[in-house]
Amino acid sequence: MTVFSGKGVYGAIAIGKLSIFKKNDTTIKRMHVEDTEAEKARVEAAKTAACEQLQAIYEKALKEVGETNAQIFEIHMMMLEDEDYNESIANIIETQKVNAEYAVAVTADNFAEMFSSMDDAYMQARATDVKDISNRIIANLTGNISGAAASEESMIICADDLAPSETVSLDKDKVLAFVTAHGSSNSHTAILARNMNIPAVIGVGDAFLQAIQNGMEAIVDGFTGEIFVDPDEETKARLLEKQQKDLEQKRLLQELKGKKNITKDGTEIQIYANIGGVDHIGAVLMNDAGGIGLFRSEFLYLENSDYPTEEQQFLAYKRVLESMAGKKVIIRTLDIGADKQVDYFNLKKEDNPAMGYRAIRICLTRPDIFKTQLRALYRASVYGNLGIMFPMITSVSEVQKVLEICKTVREELQAEQIPYAEKIELGIMIETPAAAIISDQLAPLVDFFSVGTNDLTQYTLACDRQNPDIESFCDTHHEAILRLIAWSAKNAHEHGAWIGICGELAADTSLTERFLRMGIDELSVSPTFVLKVRDAVRKVDLRTKEN
Ligand code: PEP
Ligand code: MG
Repeated sequence: MTVFSGKGVYGAIAIGKLSIFKKNDTTIKRMHVEDTEAEKARVEAAKTAACEQLQAIYEKALKEVGETNAQIFEIHMMMLEDEDYNESIANIIETQKVNAEYAVAVTADNFAEMFSSMDDAYMQARATDVKDISNRIIANLTGNISGAAASEESMIICADDLAPSETVSLDKDKVLAFVTAHGSSNSHTAILARNMNIPAVIGVGDAFLQAIQNGMEAIVDGFTGEIFVDPDEETKARLLEKQQKDLEQKRLLQELKGKKNITKDGTEIQIYANIGGVDHIGAVLMNDAGGIGLFRSEFLYLENSDYPTEEQQFLAYKRVLESMAGKKVIIRTLDIGADKQVDYFNLKKEDNPAMGYRAIRICLTRPDIFKTQLRALYRASVYGNLGIMFPMITSVSEVQKVLEICKTVREELQAEQIPYAEKIELGIMIETPAAAIISDQLAPLVDFFSVGTNDLTQYTLACDRQNPDIESFCDTHHEAILRLIAWSAKNAHEHGAWIGICGELAADTSLTERFLRMGIDELSVSPTFVLKVRDAVRKVDLRTKEN
């Protein structure tokens, strides 16, 4: 048994087999061969297998994500037959008398480098594709079929790191747990793992990936951040028992379903859920959330290979609103930029992307994109109880501009006789220190505030949320952050607005009482935390002195 440790980002236990999502190229050995014809035949067989797998993935993608998104797998199949690519592999095997794996890996590196150095953004993106197909050929050569895609069994997905788009594209039903060598607990991948109720450990280090192989048995303890590879009987028994206890605890929490979020003294708040896509609505309903406090609409953009159309967006928003049957649904307008990069936005590379061109800054400078989203939102509003919120606000003038654009959109719809709901709450995220500090000036302009503690923490403490090396400096309970939230709550209430928290801190039950004492009206958390927070709220008695 070998034990690795990282940071647990969703507390649950998974027992199963490991599946390496991305094979580390550096593990490929260069070996001398005599029979070069046999090596070339191996490459052909691996390519045939790769082509069959890609065909199956293409068909699955066609059903699940539509033709536009599935096309990439057709391109991959075509790339497998590329003459230059194949000649390069054959030539390396022949002239250097080396094994097929090595020849494919070297070709992949050379081609990827060649594509990356091209000026054209489309050609640059082909670098990832050539790596992808090469990894697939190598996986077939070595028999290590990597990634969940190749497996029918549910697996523990291990990766160097996972981009949000990669996490989104995984078949959730086949993922027992996530383990990544890198990453930080506030990254969107970690947030997605929580949303999907999947045990996840991040930052286990490169040694982990070097030590494991596909199919090895392992236990992931998302509470402690430990991974037991090839566990001994005693560890297995201990963790099975822990898993049972955890499930029992979760069952207990289920008993709170249908109960109010009310303190012992009768103060009632809303507990809503955060989601990143339409397919998470099931989890929201199953966990008895009172509404959706944060729908991260940018995932519609991340999943697409081009700007989602008004109609596409309208259908997605309509589905969420209809499914929530009159319960509040707060959809946040797109928050692209920083760690959420989308190729077709063609954003410039920035030295400090978190402080750069992102979210509302994109919307206000590219009103075409913003108005398309707003039109879709307003059109969908007649199907439920919609709230719209705007991310990364720092000033009064930004809010005024946003409200002006909303007004124009309403007027245009009216002129076209397209209906929209009479009352749609408009709110802003308080996720910059500036917004919190001037919350007295912002509150009169909006219906609600929603505190984004993930960004508020990073900007207040000058701690990059993507950088795991500084996590120890990132005290999420820092008095500065709590004071900014309390100040925003006071100002919201003084101007008739309500205030919620939708960052990860909302689920921190050691702060529930403090938030209630500040007068927070709503907490929006990953669906799986709804009942845990309800339990915490029901234990608070605001008549007693603060703990
Ligand atoms: C936040 O910053 O707290 C937030 C909820 O937004 P995101 O995590 O999507 O940046
Ligand atoms: Mg944010």
